[in-house]
Amino acid sequence: MTLAQKLWRLGRDVLPVDGFHFERPLVLLQSDDWGRAGQRDQEGLEQLRSAGLVLGEHPYDSYTLETAEDLATLGAAMKRHRDSAGRHPCLEMNFILANLDLAKMSADGFRQLYLRPLTEGLPLGWVRPGLIEAYRDGIAEGIFHPAMHGSTHFCQSAIERHLTDSGERGSLLRALWTAGTPYIHWRMPWIGYEYWDPEGSGDHFLPASQQSELIGQAMRIFSQMFSTLPYSACAPGYRANKDTHRIWARHGIRVAQNGPTALAPPPYLDRDGILHLYRTVEFEPAVDAAFSVESRLRRAEDCFRRGIPAIISVHSINFHSSLKDFRSRTLALLDDFLSALEAKHPDLLYLHDGDICELVHKGSFETKQGSVCVKVTKRRFTMPALGREGDIDESTEVSDPGDGGLPTG
Ligand SMILES: [Zn+2]
Repeated sequence: MTLAQKLWRLGRDVLPVDGFHFERPLVLLQSDDWGRAGQRDQEGLEQLRSAGLVLGEHPYDSYTLETAEDLATLGAAMKRHRDSAGRHPCLEMNFILANLDLAKMSADGFRQLYLRPLTEGLPLGWVRPGLIEAYRDGIAEGIFHPAMHGSTHFCQSAIERHLTDSGERGSLLRALWTAGTPYIHWRMPWIGYEYWDPEGSGDHFLPASQQSELIGQAMRIFSQMFSTLPYSACAPGYRANKDTHRIWARHGIRVAQNGPTALAPPPYLDRDGILHLYRTVEFEPAVDAAFSVESRLRRAEDCFRRGIPAIISVHSINFHSSLKDFRSRTLALLDDFLSALEAKHPDLLYLHDGDICELVHKGSFETKQGSVCVKVTKRRFTMPALGREGDIDESTEVSDPGDGGLPTG
């Protein structure tokens, strides 16, 4: 890009944009990491312990993979709630669409990365009967809404640099893979995020051509898995730049999910026609030792007062149960949280990303029960971070799992 083009783009990006405000309290639930295999249950844990790893220091040591039962229990909990239009809450599930093909990699002496699309099953040693059907059933019932997280959560080129490494990094990779565990991010933050290589050059984002290939691959698997294309996307680690957004737009993505920021900007449309949503309420009891429903209710009320949606961030780990029961506590707390909101706001609405996109364009959205109208007003605002590609994460208070903090997407 020439200097003139850079200046033009910078000038364009710091121009004020229209932020959307809503006259009714809106609640969205966004959830990352579905389909991503982590610690391979108790068996994998024992295997890693015998390889010398000290596990259990961080909640993400107990991150496994959801089961069909986890989804059924979550679905039943969602169905206990209804909004003012008679609809249940809907969980926007962001999927990682491929895991490592550990059988193929092992046969090859772990010298190359091979991916196994979710549509073809899970890595070697993993058993999850009925899981794919459970995703699809929840989607058919309207309590889950599938969206795109990525092909892989980690940056493939960052791992590829260490495949034949005889040092600490290479040894850790091989120990994990032998135990059927693709990776544990907080122990190896150098693996980065799909479009973001922490040891790559410049701003660490992969070139547009490489991002385009990865996004194309994820779109193909998503369409095979759900017989539709995704409408909404959230980049792994919230690491997306303008290239990512442009490529998403070309593939028909209409909503970009962004991580929590101190500014909590209202939803707005970018120049590619993508609606940007920012998470405003972190609901992560599995990893937040100081979690309280009261403080989360206060955050939601702040959003309603400002006329912006309460966009709840709740990662899949909160619903896992096979290695450690995170699920029971999360569901009890979520039940209290949603009950309190419903009791206080008789005009509350539960939406998914597609609904809110429809709402900003038409002033209403369609449900099975009919059309729901909400008054939407536009207010101009300038967000300086818009001009600095890809650094929204760094300018926020989101902490890194490597520091023992909240998930970063
Ligand atoms: Zn994630």
